[in-house]
Amino acid sequence: GNRGPEKEIPFAKPGSLTRVFAVASGKGGVGKSSVTVNLAAAMTANGLKVGVLDADIYGHSIPRMLGVADRPTKVEEMIMPPVAHDIKVISVGMFKPPGNNAVVWRGPMLDRALHQFLADVFWGDLDVLLMDLPPGTGDIAISVAQRMPTAEILVVTTPQQAAAEVAERAGSIASQTHQQIAGVIENMAWLPCPHCDERIAVFGEGGGQAVADGLTRTLGTRVPLLGQVPIDLRLREGGDNGKPLVLTDPDAPAAAELRRIAATL
Ligand code: ADP
Repeated sequence: GNRGPEKEIPFAKPGSLTRVFAVASGKGGVGKSSVTVNLAAAMTANGLKVGVLDADIYGHSIPRMLGVADRPTKVEEMIMPPVAHDIKVISVGMFKPPGNNAVVWRGPMLDRALHQFLADVFWGDLDVLLMDLPPGTGDIAISVAQRMPTAEILVVTTPQQAAAEVAERAGSIASQTHQQIAGVIENMAWLPCPHCDERIAVFGEGGGQAVADGLTRTLGTRVPLLGQVPIDLRLREGGDNGKPLVLTDPDAPAAAELRRIAATL
């Protein structure tokens, strides 16, 4: 039926004071969601008001990683997001009818859901909104670019060359959509040897720098490698338990690096 004019997205209005980051990756499993929640927690610890929008239709792991048990509530026409660690959280997973799978989330439906998450959720006055995108170069990246052209893209990759190539492809959408790329984060950069000072290059080396250099060439503007986050099994445990490592063990090297990156954004 006729839905009437669409509600305006507050973050897309000129003069909006909210910085929006779209966290992207070429493929799944590189730690995009882990990076998103830890950056969100680090920014919150620095006194910023932060929201996380989990638009990863395949993963939607953000609620677990932040320990969100509650569901959104409806107050009049607005959706009130649950809050965890002082972070407002909305996830596609919160709106999936039980038994339904991700296959139904396609093009127009995704776009409508994204609009609803941006326009109908009561985010309040956020300093930062972090959007966790699905991996790859799918419909949602296009929707985000159209609805939120001012969103800055953060690319997460591993050091692996194959991962770097797909990450670069995901990032290079920005040259078509005229979005800014805030930078590249290399995750799982190395495993600190538990017995000596050695760094074990589990996934190889150089992927983060390669993506930053490739995007710099494609976009014709410098895209920095923002940092390299090592493998830390406590980071994985924190994700499983809903307690981001930057909050439980801020001095762990992986957490310290994520806090440093958050402070540079
Ligand atoms: P994505 O969002 O890219 O699919 P996730 O953030 O879900 O990736 O990470 C995939 C898995 O790897 C998760 O189990 C997560 O806890 C783990 N993980 C991510 N980054 C690290 C890291 N730096 N050290 C250890 N485990 C990590």
